[in-house]
Amino acid sequence: MRIARIGEVGKEKPAVVLGDEYILVDSLVSDWSRATLEAGAMEKVAAADLASLPRVAKGSTRIGSPINRPSKVICVGLNYLAHIKETNSETPKEPVIFMKAPDTVVGPNDDIVIPPNSTATDYEVELAIVIGKRALYLNSPEDSAKHILGYTISQDVSERYWQLERSGQWVKGKSFPTFNPLGPEIVTPDAIDPNNLRLWCSVNGVMKQDSNTDDLLFGLHHIVWYISQFMELFPGDIINSGTPFGVGLGFKPPVYLAIGDTVKTGIEGIGEITSNCVAYK
Ligand code: MG
Repeated sequence: MRIARIGEVGKEKPAVVLGDEYILVDSLVSDWSRATLEAGAMEKVAAADLASLPRVAKGSTRIGSPINRPSKVICVGLNYLAHIKETNSETPKEPVIFMKAPDTVVGPNDDIVIPPNSTATDYEVELAIVIGKRALYLNSPEDSAKHILGYTISQDVSERYWQLERSGQWVKGKSFPTFNPLGPEIVTPDAIDPNNLRLWCSVNGVMKQDSNTDDLLFGLHHIVWYISQFMELFPGDIINSGTPFGVGLGFKPPVYLAIGDTVKTGIEGIGEITSNCVAYK
């Protein structure tokens, strides 16, 4: 199954994606959110007859983030081998985990607002894991599968000056408003093999990142199991699983995003999202 939220900001409705159409399911569930997922929203929709529900053509409406207000956005750093090399980092012995403010999450095609005076705003395509069921102290990576709702595209926008040169935790460079475009839809695990997917990011039509999730250092099930050892995961929580080679930071000299740039972020089998970089007003 593929699910999405469509409509204007703050008025999004939950939908199931079927071919070129959205089937609105707001008569069955109020939203895709932590509360509704915990109350069994997916099971309810999966068991329902959707044939008579209203439909909306793809492309005719704004797409919201596929989860309304996730309670957490957790990120894995340095999780692609070629990206570790380009950042001159050592291969981590355990997953590098950090968080970003959850209200950075915006619709997949919403604008990225470049912070005032920023000269080091960077792009990071990532496969996002979306949690479907509470996970805490899982016994093994194999146990992770039943806690995963699905996968979607995340753009983990990063301000490198605040991330790397202002000391302390990376959260500083990751939490500016609009810094996490997410979507366009969540694809459930029965419909995709997340361990072998091409993922890419282009800026103004020039391909910058073009890799495959088979280059991940720590696998997706390992990450969920690992995080559950020290944090409770809830339905709708987002885990950005890491970015591959080709970020602006890795160029010599670095090449960062500018106002007016168009960023396209894609993952095979999920889709492609488009972000325009705009000035803060
Ligand atoms: Mg990242």
